[in-house]
Amino acid sequence: MEVNGTKGVFLEFYNKEQMMPAPMQLAEGDYEGRYYRRTIGELPELFEQLGVTADPETVIETIRAYDMAVMGQGEYPDVGKAIASRTVGNVELNEDGTYNVESYDLDNALLTIRLMAPSTHHTMGGIVVDTDRHVLDESGKAIPGLYAAGEVTGGIHGGNRLGGNAIVEIFVSGRTAAKAVSADNK
Ligand SMILES: Cc1cc2nc3c(=O)[nH]c(=O)nc-3n(C[C@H](O)[C@H](O)[C@H](O)COP(=O)(O)OP(=O)(O)OC[C@H]3O[C@@H](n4cnc5c(N)ncnc54)[C@H](O)[C@@H]3O)c2cc1C
Repeated sequence: MEVNGTKGVFLEFYNKEQMMPAPMQLAEGDYEGRYYRRTIGELPELFEQLGVTADPETVIETIRAYDMAVMGQGEYPDVGKAIASRTVGNVELNEDGTYNVESYDLDNALLTIRLMAPSTHHTMGGIVVDTDRHVLDESGKAIPGLYAAGEVTGGIHGGNRLGGNAIVEIFVSGRTAAKAVSADNK
């Protein structure tokens, strides 16, 4: 599939009423290239507008089957809530927290369709530095006056950075580098 010249785009479907509030998600209209508000009946037109070649009817039936699984119904009733806590379509909750399957309605649900594309999340390798953040040359010697901090450097996270650690690293390594600059220029 190709959208706006980008290959490998994913479409995510949410029920607009059930989305976590975020600035773009609160906006009422489309957010061009990112978010679109549509009902199920408007999907074929949106797919055409975006150049999405997937068959809208197949997509709609897939969403319905997914919702049934979330509600413990359909072809995969045992999957149930293990896959998600919310349906894409509208459905009322019973007092005991189960879904009132009789009330399920996909046709009138206002959906948010989000375009996603693969991108680089974090670069693991990078410039080699010492513990004071001096940049090292190929022989392991510090290059005078050159310091590096943050994602541009490599090594600190090993082979798989743990979530959240990049932000910690930029503050810690930035401060360390600044202290080294100060100490080196006394
Ligand atoms: C979608 C996404 C989600 C993420 N979520 C998390 C998270 O939840 N937790 C976490 O810890 N990390 C997360 N990360 C990783 C983290 O955000 C980055 O590792 C971190 O922001 C890198 O900070 P930095 O200052 O080292 O580099 P950057 O933020 O990349 O800063 C480099 C700066 O240098 C500028 N620049 C580039 N070239 C030049 C030039 N020639 N001259 C002047 N300036 C230049 C750039 O414009 C940029 O402003 C996420 C990353 C992405 C992409």
